[in-house]
Amino acid sequence: MQFEPTAGGALKIDGRRTAKDVRARIKTDVSALLADGIQPGLAVVLVGEDPASAIYVRNKIRACERAGIRSVAHRLSADTSADALMSLLDDLNADPTIDGILVQLPLPDHLDTDAVIAKVRQDKDVDGFALGNLGALTAGQPGLVACTPAGVMEMLGRYFAQIGESMSGKHAVVIGRSVTVGKPMALLLLQANCTVTVCHSRTPDTAAHVRRADIVVAAAGRPELVKADWLKPGAAVIDVGIHRREDGSLCGDVEFEPATQVAGGISPVPGGVGPMTIAMLLDNTLVACRRRRRDVAHP
Ligand code: NAD
Repeated sequence: MQFEPTAGGALKIDGRRTAKDVRARIKTDVSALLADGIQPGLAVVLVGEDPASAIYVRNKIRACERAGIRSVAHRLSADTSADALMSLLDDLNADPTIDGILVQLPLPDHLDTDAVIAKVRQDKDVDGFALGNLGALTAGQPGLVACTPAGVMEMLGRYFAQIGESMSGKHAVVIGRSVTVGKPMALLLLQANCTVTVCHSRTPDTAAHVRRADIVVAAAGRPELVKADWLKPGAAVIDVGIHRREDGSLCGDVEFEPATQVAGGISPVPGGVGPMTIAMLLDNTLVACRRRRRDVAHP
């Protein structure tokens, strides 16, 4: 698979095509496990009726089915008690047929998100949000890596392979420091031997940092924050943000069209990081299954 140029000249770092490729590889790997009598299983827990969350959950379940992964959705009412949710998580933690557990966020206000994340067994935490998995990433040890940053790394890896360059030694600027995106992203780039700068809402002049970046990962959650004149010519730009404009169209954290005339490669919104996040969830489920059931498959 090769990324094609955009009208502006930059290569389109196409998440949809990359995700398709990753999903095809996962399907083959799942078939091999099935031949060993093992079917990876993912449990998705949704509390409440948030419409966006319901769509995310539906997409995740559908992606599992297509990959041959067994999925079980637990849809709980918005007034579900903490005890009831924790008891369900106990059951899923103990269920040998479940390899991955994903609790769709955000949770209703009366539930303690940190406590819920902490309840999920670390080796089934396919979201990679558990403290143990964040710690493993920080220490450079095997764990489960948060899906969105993992997807960004897959896209960047393919882009740099295509242009015949290494990420090692590149200056990467991550805009955003959330526990789910910015921080793990910075750690993964560091693991790939980039020199990493993290900008956030208190950074006085984010543009000045971005101008020195060979790699920009925009995850600020601010529509079209990053302008074309912030970019170093030839930079690789991955746009994690996703926003709906008043006219109903979608945009990211980067002003896409003008940026395509300056960047060397850029991911679009939609069709960029979004599809990769789901593909990496499937991958994490497969990884979790292999690790936990390795002894069963190959006694
Ligand atoms: P968040 O709100 O938790 O974090 C945003 C971060 O950006 C914060 O650390 C903040 O300090 C920083 N920030 C805010 N304004 C800034 C500014 N003007 N300059 C520099 N830094 C600034 O958001 P998040 O959960 O990390 O998500 C970020 C974006 O990515 C959102 O648009 C979200 O919808 C999107 N997202 C997309 C996917 C996907 O699968 N495509 C997954 C997760 C998040």
